[in-house]
Amino acid sequence: MSSALTDRARTLDAEHAGTDLRGRFRLPAGVVYLDGNSLGALPAGVPEAVADVVHRQWGNRLIASWNEADWWGAPTRVGDRIGALVGAREGQVICTDSTTVNLYKAVVAAARMRPGRQVVLTDPASFPTDLYVTQAAARDAGLTVELVPPPDAPARIAALGDDLVLASYSSVDYRTGELWDLPAITRAAHDVGALACWDLCHSAGVLEVGLDEHGADLAVGCGYKYLNGGPGAPAFLYVARRHHDDFDQPLSGWNGHATPFAMAPEFAPADGISRGRVGTPPLLSMLALEAALHAYDGESVAALRARSLSLTGFFLECLDALVPEVEVATPRDPDRRGSQVSVRHPGAYGVVQALVARGVVGDFREPDIVRLGFSPMYLTHADVLRAAEQLRAVLDGAEHERPEFTARATVT
Ligand SMILES: *Cc1c(COP(=O)(O)O)cnc(C)c1O
Repeated sequence: MSSALTDRARTLDAEHAGTDLRGRFRLPAGVVYLDGNSLGALPAGVPEAVADVVHRQWGNRLIASWNEADWWGAPTRVGDRIGALVGAREGQVICTDSTTVNLYKAVVAAARMRPGRQVVLTDPASFPTDLYVTQAAARDAGLTVELVPPPDAPARIAALGDDLVLASYSSVDYRTGELWDLPAITRAAHDVGALACWDLCHSAGVLEVGLDEHGADLAVGCGYKYLNGGPGAPAFLYVARRHHDDFDQPLSGWNGHATPFAMAPEFAPADGISRGRVGTPPLLSMLALEAALHAYDGESVAALRARSLSLTGFFLECLDALVPEVEVATPRDPDRRGSQVSVRHPGAYGVVQALVARGVVGDFREPDIVRLGFSPMYLTHADVLRAAEQLRAVLDGAEHERPEFTARATVT
């Protein structure tokens, strides 16, 4: 059985040779890294770029680098680069802050753009920070949050009508990898005169989001997942151009000022997407992210999406053949799948640790999810088969029950 799969992996890798970008990354030997949806791998050009920022731009040129190296322009420059990956024409994405902070800004700004309306709709299964900060923003803006799963959102949106301010959803479920219907939810929100905000943490860089094409109003997302920006890389915020003049975000800071160096006592927002800025950006991280994004040079997201679906589809095939007893939590329909495959197992935490010991790095999500992310850029079908074979071996040996694999670390 496994030898038929080995042949199939080889065939698929040959078919997809044009999108094998592993050479653009530095990965430890012998590791199948299936956690690029939590912390992307290190792109090969980043160490040198960061060394240049530290030694030359900072060490030698000191404060002159704000102009010479255009440190000041980094948030819009990097924002445009990210925008190209999520279907946003230039001038609509800013690289800034964290996803959490950007979502706060987006929800409060949405409330100010739709005065008199009361309700924000979001997914009860959202990533927790999205729930927490949506609640916080709603409290500060005098809104109520209603929790409605994405499949039920269009009907609920229609029923709420002009009570609805904002439908705020993740494009991909962080636990199951299910891809939600961004166009349909966005359209439903617009039909009642409301706005739609999308969290792209698990879709930016691996699938065609089409923010402009589908008329999204607002979006946020991470720089350190599939975009490979490195630990703590800054996030991004998208505001559709038609909303720029009305985008009144709550964190007025000097970087978002129309004339920041005039040092005026009164706040006046910058034109365009720059009004999404707050304070001084974390330039070491932001310039690492900028260098990391070169891994995408010359590649289309459409081609990477095709590779991603081939990888996850082949993993499902391998699971069916080798580990048929596990329950797959991710939709098998490629149109409803992000770039991950999650399986449920009562001993999921131990399964993940035992896999790590065998060189297959994924992660655990409460309560019973073994979450495996497939970054199309640096994974092959051979890696995918190896991951399934190692899962088979872990379960056969009941390795997940060993005490060294069931003790919880601080970060799971
Ligand atoms: C990873 C992730 C975040 C992380 O937010 P931070 O502010 O970077 O900690 C938020 N939302 C979703 C959906 C995520 O997947």
